[in-house]
Amino acid sequence: MRTEQQTLTFDITSNAQPMAEADRLEAFKALGFGTLFSDHMTVVRWSADRGWHSAEVTARAPFPMDPASAVLHYAQEIFEGMKAYRTADGQAVLFRPDQNAERFNQSAKRMGMPEIPEALFVEAVQKLVATDAKWIPEGEGSLYLRPFMFANEPFLGVRPSREFIFCVIASSVGPYFKGGAKPVTIWTSQNFTRAANGGTGAVKCGGNYAASLIAQAEAAEQGCDQVVFLDAAEHKWVEELGGMNVFFVMQDGTLITPPLNGNILPGITRKSLIQLARDEGMTVEERAYSFSEWQADAASGKLKEAFACGTAAVVAAIGKVKFPGGEFTIADGQTGQTTTRLRDLLVNIQRGRSNDRYGWVQPVPGL
Ligand SMILES: *Cc1c(COP(=O)(O)O)cnc(C)c1O
Repeated sequence: MRTEQQTLTFDITSNAQPMAEADRLEAFKALGFGTLFSDHMTVVRWSADRGWHSAEVTARAPFPMDPASAVLHYAQEIFEGMKAYRTADGQAVLFRPDQNAERFNQSAKRMGMPEIPEALFVEAVQKLVATDAKWIPEGEGSLYLRPFMFANEPFLGVRPSREFIFCVIASSVGPYFKGGAKPVTIWTSQNFTRAANGGTGAVKCGGNYAASLIAQAEAAEQGCDQVVFLDAAEHKWVEELGGMNVFFVMQDGTLITPPLNGNILPGITRKSLIQLARDEGMTVEERAYSFSEWQADAASGKLKEAFACGTAAVVAAIGKVKFPGGEFTIADGQTGQTTTRLRDLLVNIQRGRSNDRYGWVQPVPGL
């Protein structure tokens, strides 16, 4: 496989039929999540003989695809999720894009896909944001960026594909949950697990999501917003939500989050919050936490707050937990102080409103 650093120049072709300004501004008034797409996309192709080539920013359009395209049969696909924010001084910024690039390559390795040079990944994202900067909403919205890569060789044999398409699309977004900043209710899946040892739980691949949708549908039937998955082996330990990591805030101020045991997605939000919490003088324990402990700690009052975190929803308080045969509420079921504090600390850095001591926030060049 050719994956060495190659210098590529992006061809930029403007969309000849961009959305009208008035329509875009109208759409900005009712932003949801992942339904409103910008005018362009970035595409870079890879083949076994040419390596990375044909980098371009072009009008967002369907991919013509052979029905034998490998991704349609064996799901060789990975993705990332990140956001561009508009700061008060009008700059467009990205939050820790190097971390997304690094994780993307971890995913690529596990899935038998070519790694992309980190600089090329970041440039592909930056180029799209620079081209579609007007799609970054003002206020609390942001431009959600979805880099992804899929196998596109027309071949039904079972082996890694020899052709891939890397693409970045962008979607102007508002709050992830319909209820806005209200605490979420989560469903504890008993019938389904998300990840097992040696599997793909720690990589961001579409297949993990495909396997979790039935549990998510069960959650929706139970009136819940999200699923929390327990470990596959003992069905005892809390791992994470379908697309978010989880934290517990104890009475003594300690924060607990499940350890990265190979079955949990290493969230960049998770990692950033651990850092910010420690900077605040909080104790953070990355340790296994069982569902029965969770239930007991909620009942005794030892557990004060719980929250889920990820790029899309940022930080969302967990108010109530349901499981087959019961439910429990965490404290008063409202968003707690520590959850709010950590959320504010992170959001203020992301939006350039407070001192970015680690250099997490990076302006998009060319604007
Ligand atoms: C993307 C994702 C997360 C959150 O990762 P962030 O980098 O914080 O956005 C958590 N769990 C799963 C399963 C994910 O796919």
